[in-house]
Amino acid sequence: DAVLQLKDVEMTFPDGTQALRGISLTIKKGELVSIIGPSGAGKSTFMRSLNRLNTPTAGSIVFEGQDVMRARGKELREIRRRIGMVFQHFNLIKRSQTYHNVLHGRLGYMPTLKGSFGRFSKEDTEKAFEVLRRVGLEEHMFKRADELSGGQQQRVGIARAIIQEPSLLLADEPIASLDPSSSENVMNYLKQVCEEDGLTSIVNLHQVDFAKKFAHRIIGIKAGEVVFDGAPRELTDGI
Ligand code: ADP
Ligand code: ADP
Repeated sequence: DAVLQLKDVEMTFPDGTQALRGISLTIKKGELVSIIGPSGAGKSTFMRSLNRLNTPTAGSIVFEGQDVMRARGKELREIRRRIGMVFQHFNLIKRSQTYHNVLHGRLGYMPTLKGSFGRFSKEDTEKAFEVLRRVGLEEHMFKRADELSGGQQQRVGIARAIIQEPSLLLADEPIASLDPSSSENVMNYLKQVCEEDGLTSIVNLHQVDFAKKFAHRIIGIKAGEVVFDGAPRELTDGI
């Protein structure tokens, strides 16, 4: 049961840069995949193509049976709701409380706001509490995002992604701004949440050691092409 199928995906930017040069691969339900590769290899472009933040210039992408390349309007919004995103720089609203951040992230779903300053319904607040509990942050739900450490902020980022109940979770360099011990902690939560939900996940990482610990499968990209695709233990001397 494929969640994602890519065939000959190419991305050439208007300035002529060929960021992806024919990527073909299938990702199955429940797989935890790590994309690794040097800076400029095309990892972000690959990830951004999956929910059409970039539109590839050739090839096909099918997500749960839907043609991503042709989707527009309502169909594209629905695809994006099913794809949760975690970002390198967390992208939280710094002055907003933790649980507000979580609820604001619920794409494709408009929380029941009472007044423009956002008092959420009891049901929404409980839902936010539940996802924050899963990343160990229930005690911090009423704190402002900027009162949290970097690792905690990224765990809020994970909670915000999973509250929309995605079937695919994408994380683009989620620990690149964190120190090693926070990185370890964030990756552990990420793996735990994915495994509990049987969530398919693709994580861009440039730290190969973290990729090996997290993933069932590692895909190495170099100069826009797949140069490695296999189990972590098969990756012996880098890519
Ligand atoms: P990575 O995430 O592996 O560091 P990227 O996907 O960000 O790599 O970039 C792949 C290549 O595409 C790089 O050569 C980068 O400079 C280029 N690139 C990325 N975005 C653009 C853009 N908007 N316009 C032109 N070139 C771009
Ligand atoms: P190793 O040789 O160290 O077991 P693997 O590639 O088998 O390396 O696994 C790396 C990590 O991914 C381990 O934490 C392993 O438990 C986990 N893993 C591998 N395959 C699966 C799978 N199909 N389902 C769940 N976890 C898996």
